[in-house]
Amino acid sequence: MTDCIFCKIANKEIPTTPVYEDEKVIAFNDLNPQAPVHILVIPKKHYSSLKEIEDFSVMADLFAAVSKITKEKNISDFRTVINTGAEAGQSVFHIHVHILAGRPLKWPPG
Ligand code: AMP
Repeated sequence: MTDCIFCKIANKEIPTTPVYEDEKVIAFNDLNPQAPVHILVIPKKHYSSLKEIEDFSVMADLFAAVSKITKEKNISDFRTVINTGAEAGQSVFHIHVHILAGRPLKWPPG
């Protein structure tokens, strides 16, 4: 999608240092981290949100990457978040999984 910031990151139109990358997925550090570890995992293909996904192998690809990243970085405790829709806090409309770690995380979230 031409005006999607995460598509531009996935296509390397915006330079980024990937934390992880494979054929279908790329992960990078959040620009505005909310915890000492704050990584975003995105599919290279554009889906605006979870609501748009019908082939859920995309979610398996994303969570396989989460597993690899956290294992590789020895992150034992972490939270994964997928905000879906503006009211739930989604601000970038290209589906992404947040990985948050490195400090105690409260529940419920705000
Ligand atoms: P959400 O609010 O769930 O849609 O999350 C979007 C996240 O993307 C926020 O945590 C932003 O800080 C982050 N973000 C926005 N633009 C960039 C960017 N260019 N590089 C890295 N992270 C970004």
